[in-house]
Amino acid sequence: MSKELFSVEDQAQIIEAIKLAEMQTSGEIRVHIEPNCEGEPMDRALAVFAELNMHTTAQKNGVLIYLATSDKKFAIIGDKGIHEKVHDSFWNEEKELLNEHFSKGEFTLGLTKAIYKVGEKLKLHFLYQSDDTDELTNDISFGGKSDA
Ligand code: CA
Ligand code: CA
Repeated sequence: MSKELFSVEDQAQIIEAIKLAEMQTSGEIRVHIEPNCEGEPMDRALAVFAELNMHTTAQKNGVLIYLATSDKKFAIIGDKGIHEKVHDSFWNEEKELLNEHFSKGEFTLGLTKAIYKVGEKLKLHFLYQSDDTDELTNDISFGGKSDA
């Protein structure tokens, strides 16, 4: 089970990164982690995005980082509000950053760095509102088989 790869401290770091990023922007970031991904990670990420109801943000500015730890596949996707604002180059930069760390097994470091970068980017387009709400939970979503 992939959750075991993340210590309580790792998980806290990731959640804290999301919280800090979301203090800069109205955009909402989530992380989904599971062991295996059959097929294309982008397709799976789109399915997870829907399962987690991530399309429900008011400004269509949810971002999902998807990671399959055993299969070493990942994807990062944003809702259409973001797609209208950022270019492919941004997603490619994020993918490179994630790949650099994931290939070394540095899952938590890669995720936290990518989350910060997403926050920096989103704040240029989606300003933090004083009445901001946490539209999507910052908790990590763990999928896949559990022995528990
Ligand atoms: Ca928010
Ligand atoms: Ca959130």
